Amino acid sequence: MNIDNNLRHLLENETKIHLAEIRFLYQKLDRQLGLNGARVPITFGFDTDRLGAYTPGFGQDEEEFHFSLLFIGYCVAKPLSKDDRIDLYKHEYAHYMQYNMDIPDKYNWQPGIHGSAWKYCCSLIGAAPTPYYKAGEGLIKHDYDKVLKKKITDKSIPIRDTYSREQEYRKKKNSTVKFNINDDVNHPKFGKGTIEHIEQLEGSVRLHVRFGEDLKKIDQKWLLQANLKKAGASRHI
Ligand SMILES: [Zn+2]
Repeated sequence: MNIDNNLRHLLENETKIHLAEIRFLYQKLDRQLGLNGARVPITFGFDTDRLGAYTPGFGQDEEEFHFSLLFIGYCVAKPLSKDDRIDLYKHEYAHYMQYNMDIPDKYNWQPGIHGSAWKYCCSLIGAAPTPYYKAGEGLIKHDYDKVLKKKITDKSIPIRDTYSREQEYRKKKNSTVKFNINDDVNHPKFGKGTIEHIEQLEGSVRLHVRFGEDLKKIDQKWLLQANLKKAGASRHI
């Protein structure tokens, strides 16, 4: 989207105020929880498809909070209400909590970036436990017990955050080589094999595996999943 230069300039001038508002809120939450979220860098951008994001500092990624001025800005056509803005900041802080706090085992049943661990974090700070943005959400009283037991299925509304980053992360994860040449692997159909060659592709890794006389090309992701399933199945015996 082309943003009017004038609007861009006005929004850039607002960042100091937003920064102060977010830091003030995060300092308060830090004191409650004994965390250091207010020290994480906060950046702003002009994303049109998501409101915010939290990037944990893994690998080459720098840890940061990121917010789109096109949503949080005061001078846009449809600004968020203060409650919704604060709720968005809490939403991202809950992601930060997910990576920086011990989550009790019973809240780890549902995987995913907006899974039960994240919803548990939302319940501690009063954030709306929904990954999608609906106006007025920040004001509703949420039944955390209920959402902690049930999956959110409403996908009709724009996602608040991290969608593109989550995809990037998945892509990166799938293209990270997890094996070495000469490693022995187990294939559900072909049995024991040895890795002879590893090809790193964009978004995936292709293993060339020797099973006796046959050389098979196997997607690493597939092999990891097959082995996981096998390990999981044997545990129940
Ligand atoms: Zn989120």
